[in-house]
Amino acid sequence: MKKVLISLICLAVAATAFWGIRKYRDNQFGISITLQQSEFPVGKSVEIPVTALATGVYEEKAVTLVPEIGGNVDWNKVGQYTLTVTARYKKKVKTENFTVTVTDKEAPVLTLLTKEGYFTLPGGTYEEEGYTAVDNYDGDITDRVELTRDGDTIRYSVTDANGNTSTAERTIVYSDPLAPVITLNGEPEMTIMRRKPYLEEGATAVDNYDGDVTEQIVLSGGVDTSVVGEHMVTYTVKDSSGNKATAVRYIHVIESDRPIGDEEEAKGKVIYLTFDDGPSPYTRQLLDVLDKYNVKATFFVVYNKNFVDMIGEEFRRGHAVGIHCYNHDYSIVYKSEAAYWEDFEKMQAVIKEQTGQRTNLLRFPGGSSNTVSRKHEKGLMTKLAKQMGEKGYYYFDWNVLSGDAEAKPISTDEVFKNVTKGIEGLKGRPAVVLQHDIKKFSLDAVERIIQWGLENGYTFLPLDETSFGAHHGINN
Ligand SMILES: [Zn+2]
Repeated sequence: MKKVLISLICLAVAATAFWGIRKYRDNQFGISITLQQSEFPVGKSVEIPVTALATGVYEEKAVTLVPEIGGNVDWNKVGQYTLTVTARYKKKVKTENFTVTVTDKEAPVLTLLTKEGYFTLPGGTYEEEGYTAVDNYDGDITDRVELTRDGDTIRYSVTDANGNTSTAERTIVYSDPLAPVITLNGEPEMTIMRRKPYLEEGATAVDNYDGDVTEQIVLSGGVDTSVVGEHMVTYTVKDSSGNKATAVRYIHVIESDRPIGDEEEAKGKVIYLTFDDGPSPYTRQLLDVLDKYNVKATFFVVYNKNFVDMIGEEFRRGHAVGIHCYNHDYSIVYKSEAAYWEDFEKMQAVIKEQTGQRTNLLRFPGGSSNTVSRKHEKGLMTKLAKQMGEKGYYYFDWNVLSGDAEAKPISTDEVFKNVTKGIEGLKGRPAVVLQHDIKKFSLDAVERIIQWGLENGYTFLPLDETSFGAHHGINN
């Protein structure tokens, strides 16, 4: 019994000791709370890094606790806030306060703008192209940007409400990227008839920086009016910065041998009296008849040493003088291409001496349709007709025959009839009448022809570069 009692006492003591130690150990636990970060960027989603530990003295073990976090923090607003952190372990509770700061340390975004197509001319004034400043916290603070200028450098600076600053720099580049502007004088596209003169009207050019650069315009290409087709004249100009401008004029050269010559022709009823093979002893008399009616005609002359001064007389009285030939012998004048031009220049020299100027009008001996030249050189007329155009000469055939050159002579009456019937047959289209002022019977019809023409509403004109050519088909 005593033994049992002792055992019970021992057990009670042991239990008391056990509980006591147990309780002691419990009381030896500490809780520590740590906030690893106390400063947070404004406006960012936040996970607050807090650790809470419970540690005991006998068993050196740490227990990680899950703390409760309280307090009102506006993460979108800069400022200081208090966080309350509570951690529990067994029956122990620990609460601790921490101060956290929500900060703005981000600088604004400063952007320099460039204007499409903007440039500063050398020596010119820079016009601000613009900029923007946007802050993460303050929003648009473009109006707070400050500009300072140092030579050709512009510095931009902006500071947000929390003292964060951004800067940028721009260097002014001077340039002239614009080419001059060319303006053509006259029409940019024109149509002219074959062998009619092309008059270069030029162009003007103005540059945004250099001003008037008309003098620097360079022309290229050209118009050969003897060639039917499209021709171009190109105008090019460069400014002092090397910017190049180009303009083009298009000239359409069309076949001219149509009855659409000058104004009078267009109105209709024009007669061109033409006289070949003179001068002769009868030429002066003819000139007097023409003067009497103030009619101007055309003389395609040959060389005749006895009457050569009549060529000057024709010219002074207002008639047109053109080349026929120096030597009216087909075997000489059409012997070759070279022979033809030699003869042509000899007659040209005579005319120059008589009238003081060269002529650009001519009539081929036998007309452009002659076949006699074929005996001497094949294709000669084709070549010569083309060369005339290239050299700026105008050749004329005829569309009214007087018949005064037939082997069998005809009467003055017949000449009159041939000419007037021929003109009537043209029904108002321009008439180029062929007569020879070496045939007296033919010239005797001229006064009646003029009277008839005037009575019937015709106009008599001398030929010129713009007149109807009355061209025949070329047969060689
Ligand atoms: Zn002739």
